[in-house]
Amino acid sequence: HGLDIAFLSISVVIFSLLIRESYRLAFYDELTELPGRRALIEDMAKLGMKYSFAMTDIDHFKKFNDTYGHDTGDEVLKMVASKLANVSGGGKAYRYGGEEFVVLFPGVDVNEAFIHSDVLREVIATSAFNVRNKKTTKKIFVNISIGVVQNKSTDKDPFAVMKRADNALYKEKKAGRNRVIKA
Ligand code: GH3
Ligand code: MG
Ligand code: MG
Repeated sequence: HGLDIAFLSISVVIFSLLIRESYRLAFYDELTELPGRRALIEDMAKLGMKYSFAMTDIDHFKKFNDTYGHDTGDEVLKMVASKLANVSGGGKAYRYGGEEFVVLFPGVDVNEAFIHSDVLREVIATSAFNVRNKKTTKKIFVNISIGVVQNKSTDKDPFAVMKRADNALYKEKKAGRNRVIKA
């Protein structure tokens, strides 16, 4: 009897660990440990009357990889992700894919989202990243560009709102980088 109960308890523990692990695998990005696209889609379904998005993309990241190597690129992605994870103003950061991130601000208007996004931009632009090669350690910097947008009362689809932020970001990239633009 005691053995049955012990076996049952162990089974329950293993089962709940498996559930937790499969949840983590599905909803979190392995490299950066930020929530990923599936987590974003889930959270987008829970949005209320007002929200803002910040679409974020690392500037000239292809060139960065070409210059310093893909592994160093991965380290930079982790660094950028850790700064985004600490976003102020009630935002939540997700890795959308590649070197693109989304910060979702539930209940926050575009002017406030702009302020918190610009803090992120500034923090990342001024964070030195150490690259070691053979004898020397070099301090390098990366920049991000951000497009922010707020939903309108007529918006039914948060994906369409996100698309507007993405378009703003694309425009900003053409005009110059290391900036935040309002859609
Ligand atoms: P822009 O300033 O216009 O955004 O230029 P960009 O080079 O950043 O833009 P582009 O979209 O052309 O390049 C994105 C690069 O990001 C290409 C790809 O090699 C790199 N990248 C995407 N995901 C990863 C990753 O997980 N690790 C590393 N190291 N690089 C990645
Ligand atoms: Mg990109
Ligand atoms: Mg880029």
